[in-house]
Amino acid sequence: MVKAYGARRALDGVDIDLREGETLAIVGPNGAGKTTLLRMLATLHRPTEGTLQMFGHDLPDQAQSVRPLLGYLGHDPLVYLDLTALQNLELFADLYGVPDPRERIEDLLDQVGLLPRAFEPVRTFSRGMAQRLGIARLLLHRPVLLLLDEPTSGLDAPGAALLDRVVAGGISVVLVTHDVERAVQVADRLLVLRGGRVRIACGTSGLDPAAFRAEYEREIA
Ligand code: ATP
Repeated sequence: MVKAYGARRALDGVDIDLREGETLAIVGPNGAGKTTLLRMLATLHRPTEGTLQMFGHDLPDQAQSVRPLLGYLGHDPLVYLDLTALQNLELFADLYGVPDPRERIEDLLDQVGLLPRAFEPVRTFSRGMAQRLGIARLLLHRPVLLLLDEPTSGLDAPGAALLDRVVAGGISVVLVTHDVERAVQVADRLLVLRGGRVRIACGTSGLDPAAFRAEYEREIA
């Protein structure tokens, strides 16, 4: 796959193979193409060259069939500040067509520790609380693939622990992170990008986080 912005190739010949139930971590220095790749998987960008198939559907043409299966969480929780926590989840439940959403919403608000704040506008929340509501939004429609871009930036400890439990729970995940050692710990496979190209693609089984970090630093030097 290639993604070019004018003459600049943000992704330059990246092949990626997602496997059900696995966590794939994408690491690399600033400008490596990590977010571009994740947004491509989220059907938010079209490849300039090459094709992408997800869940048996060709992208970007069949993006509508793929989107309900995806949950995307970036630095921004993508919730509306003027709506309450409950109203936000009701709105997204409606957009995603979640059947009988009330129970699901209450359960998620409980899981993210926001049930007591359900009727307060998000603008009165701390950043960590808003990001926790973002996790509830992420999970609301029961996606089967989570696309997470530095999700712990801005998350508080309970939110980070909750997300760790979700990731460890066997759902398929693609995770962009700057934390190489953590990537080794949480992921099944690693992709190191630099300059829009794959520099290392490997499994994490038996990999020592500190040793891999040293290898990573040599690779991106
Ligand atoms: P970071 O770790 O800093 O978030 P990244 O690995 O996520 O970086 P990307 O955001 O994917 O990197 O950017 C890859 C390259 O594509 C960079 O050179 C960036 O400047 C370029 N790029 C990204 N988005 C655009 C855009 N909308 N227009 C032009 N160039 C872009």
